[in-house]
Order: sequence, then structure tokens, then C-alpha cells
Amino acid sequence: MEPEEPACCGQPRGYRLGAMRGSSTIAGQIEALVMRLDGAAICDGCITDRLNLSVTAQANAVTRLLPGQRGFERSKAACALCGTTRLVIRRSVK
Ligand SMILES: [Zn+2]
Repeated sequence: MEPEEPACCGQPRGYRLGAMRGSSTIAGQIEALVMRLDGAAICDGCITDRLNLSVTAQANAVTRLLPGQRGFERSKAACALCGTTRLVIRRSVK
């Protein structure tokens, strides 16, 4: 199935990044987005684009903290959305 974004993505799912300072909403949105991709990799640039963040650094601040948590992994690979090989985040789901 295609990782398409529904227009409304406002359901709180209870995901939380305890270490984030003042940006738990963005962190939660990024986690939810990565989870919806169901194991597909996504780069910071595409996260920024998908969530309408103002700068890539906002996505990066979250994705660099995710690895090691609940199956998130960060590695250099092809982004499933833009196809560019760069640092991407994904979640191994089983
Ligand atoms: Zn991308």
C-alpha cells in the first residue's frame, strides 16, 4: 500500500519523545509519519516537506534522537519518497 498522507492527521496516538524540548508535537508527528510508512525509509527533507516544517533542522532534531527507540533506525539508504541516497529514518515493524 502507498504511504500516502491523509489530509487529516490530528489523532493523538500517545507517542512521546521525552527528551524533546518544547517540540513534542513535531516529534509526535514525525514518529507517526515514520510509523505510517511501515518500514519504508524517509529522509529529513521529505519529513520536512510532508509535515510542512519550516526547516529541515526541525526534522533532523527529532530523527537523530529516534534510533534505539521502539525499533527506529537511522542509516544511509535510499529514501522511499524522493529516491535520494542519504541519511534516512525508518522503523522496523513486525
Ligand atoms: Zn526523501
